[in-house]
Amino acid sequence: MAVIYLAVVRVLVCPMSCDNCGRRFSSADELERVFPDIPDLINRLDAGGTVPEGECPLCEALVYREQGRVRVGILLDGGLVKGVFADRCGVDAAVLDTEVLETDDEATLTVRALGETYVGVPQRQTPENNTGLVGRLFEAVERLESKERRG
Ligand SMILES: [Zn+2]
Repeated sequence: MAVIYLAVVRVLVCPMSCDNCGRRFSSADELERVFPDIPDLINRLDAGGTVPEGECPLCEALVYREQGRVRVGILLDGGLVKGVFADRCGVDAAVLDTEVLETDDEATLTVRALGETYVGVPQRQTPENNTGLVGRLFEAVERLESKERRG
């Protein structure tokens, strides 16, 4: 029997990070200095480079808005979700488990997705921030995809 999981992954506010120490900031209020009030700004920027949001209060390096996609890895073991991993902080996830039988204290949820109707028990997952695991998972997937494209 096929096990079907519908995973909903939501990225919470975590939009800026320090270029040097990697510290993340959810708003400019947390920064020591905010653009353009940054000492010696002209000499710290590359021509055509990204405009920084401000300066890190910890190490005084420049802080930039985070770009790109969040990558999420889901670890299934015997059809069970063992873990959800993300390569960035501030990711929240929920899984609809269609294999769990309804109990008194667990309400089922019915959703339409992928052209079908699924009934399952929704479960919150708290993704662990694990850039290494997610990176290796995506490298392997991308290797397989390029192998398939070559035939
Ligand atoms: Zn810093």
